[in-house]
Amino acid sequence: MPWRKTKDPYAIWVSEIMLQQTQVDTVIPYFNRWMHTFPTIKKLAQAKDEKVLKMWEGLGYYSRARNLQKAAQMVAKEHGGKLPKDSAQLSSLPGIGPYSLGAISSIAFELPIAAVDGNVLRVVSRLFEIHKNIKDKKTVDEVREIVTALFSDKDRGDMTQAWMELGATVCLPTNPKCLICPLQKLCAAKKKNLTDKLPIVSKRPKTKKVVTAAIILKRENTFLLEKRPLGKIMGGLWLFPTVELPGPVNKHKQEISALFEKEFGIKVKPANQLLTLSHSYTVHRAQLNVFLAQGTTPKKLHPDLNWINESRLKETPFPAVHAKIIDQILN
Ligand code: SF4
Repeated sequence: MPWRKTKDPYAIWVSEIMLQQTQVDTVIPYFNRWMHTFPTIKKLAQAKDEKVLKMWEGLGYYSRARNLQKAAQMVAKEHGGKLPKDSAQLSSLPGIGPYSLGAISSIAFELPIAAVDGNVLRVVSRLFEIHKNIKDKKTVDEVREIVTALFSDKDRGDMTQAWMELGATVCLPTNPKCLICPLQKLCAAKKKNLTDKLPIVSKRPKTKKVVTAAIILKRENTFLLEKRPLGKIMGGLWLFPTVELPGPVNKHKQEISALFEKEFGIKVKPANQLLTLSHSYTVHRAQLNVFLAQGTTPKKLHPDLNWINESRLKETPFPAVHAKIIDQILN
């Protein structure tokens, strides 16, 4: 992993933010591209927000990218472009919560501040036989205290990474590899045969099914696109104008024109259905139905809409599912 070969606090910070919610294998190429494009905090601070989102395109949870840039701008202005060591200053930056604070502080600065993620919660719950829901803040605080107390006087960054690595590769959620685990002689769950009972995890929130329709409206060499408002899901990204349908597309096809008129003030007639794509975001499981459309737009467009030239599509940041539509169109 490229971020394990550096002590650059900025690189460690970027990797820790990317690794939240995303698998290591997916993160590696994104991390390399990011560090190549924005090699320093100052470069990130000065970059255009659309370029930042473009570099994040496909990683999801885009607020992570927006927060990284906002924080970089604060660090450039207030700390001369160097990530502060001080915990209070570090945790006041956007996007840096207790986990990122611990990871950056221990790995980059060798400070005894614990980073407790899902892997660490699982290992510690089994090791010390903690029969408490690991989704509760109180349990997380308790585990953080245990990990903090176990820091040695040196190699704190290695200890943090060892906890995480043990959870990711040995103390797996199902079928933990206890026989090759370096902690097996100390582990309460192993001794008492409780590895399949711990950790205790409350049920995930139910996923919500959503059906949406997007239209491709083309005028000469431009496409009508919607820029998602900041503060909303996928804020700052561009999409083909999309509306939510009240139910399955075959039952509600006739309502699509009216929904677009209500949402964006445009009169469109969806013609051929080009694609049906499935995607997930937060707790939503969505089916996106993409239509080629004909129609007219008012002179004064809805503030979220814009005509974007085909030549700019490649540099415009889209959520992954809309980037697939672009690929279809351009191919
Ligand atoms: S002995 Fe098994 S349950 Fe205990 S920490 Fe190691 S892998 Fe996890």
